Amino acid sequence: MKTILITGGTGFIGTNLCNRLIQDENNKIICLDNNYTGSLKNIENLIDNSRFKFINHDVINPIEIDEKIDEIYNLACPASPASYQGKHAILTTKTCIYGAINALDLAVKNNAKILQASTSEIYGEPLVHPQIETYFGNVNPNGIRSCYDEGKRCAESLFFDYYRIYGAKIKVVRIFNTYGPKMDKNDGRVVSNFIYQALLGKDLTIYGNGAQTRSFCYIDDLINGLIKMMATQDDITGPINLGNDGEFTISELANLIKEKINPSLNITYKPLPSDDPTQRRPDISKAKEILNWQPEIKLEDGLNKTIAYFKGII
Ligand code: UDP
Repeated sequence: MKTILITGGTGFIGTNLCNRLIQDENNKIICLDNNYTGSLKNIENLIDNSRFKFINHDVINPIEIDEKIDEIYNLACPASPASYQGKHAILTTKTCIYGAINALDLAVKNNAKILQASTSEIYGEPLVHPQIETYFGNVNPNGIRSCYDEGKRCAESLFFDYYRIYGAKIKVVRIFNTYGPKMDKNDGRVVSNFIYQALLGKDLTIYGNGAQTRSFCYIDDLINGLIKMMATQDDITGPINLGNDGEFTISELANLIKEKINPSLNITYKPLPSDDPTQRRPDISKAKEILNWQPEIKLEDGLNKTIAYFKGII
């Protein structure tokens, strides 16, 4: 039996990962979360499973677990700009940094493998396009996004120092925009906002002129990448980009969702938040080569599945 700890286990990625990993009867899942942006509702189908345990805990505090842990996925952190900025900014930085330290300490104690959910945000406003892992990024160190960007950058730094100093078995992946079922409809991200707005017959809100780009990865593809990364040999540390390399403007995304739900909807333009990256697309050559991984689900198909999910919860 393998015991797997997932911090941030009731969030969007965590919930999908719990549901996937529990399918293997040799896996036991410990799902840890403080439910700040996650929700117990997301895991209610798992709670009675004898191979599943939920622990209500904030990763800012040391993590004490009596049983032997084999693998840790460190996902805990608010991930939507609307949830990590503003009055929660300091909490976000603490979650990134103390959370990394506490998860790494537990990994070293257990000689467990540990995967860090890093992010495309560590590239900031990228001057290299598409973004490749060797690019150091262009991050505003004191802007409204820096709590997340610099927090995640410092977490990467901690992971590599634990690797160099303690021989921790680290795996760092940089996750690009991901969407799909179990996204919180109110978390403020673009895919969930547009789908939710469209289903309610409201205007779609584009920030700025809609020319900024993002690359959207369907959750099942991402989960495959996370599991493949965890399964690598100890000398594979990353960082490795995980994302879909199709690139779309936000206007294109709005039109696609409008067409699918209600073509007569209007678009309202709102101010672009500061430090909102102008363009983003992962170079995924490393993931293809090292993990033999690439996304399989096209945006159109992923949006259909996500719209179906949102219709069910509205
Ligand atoms: N965005 C938008 N309308 C919304 C929400 C977001 O135009 O209702 C834009 C946002 O300004 C950004 C892009 O969509 O340029 C992606 O935003 P999201 O919050 O999903 O992710 P991130 O900024 O972290 O990539």
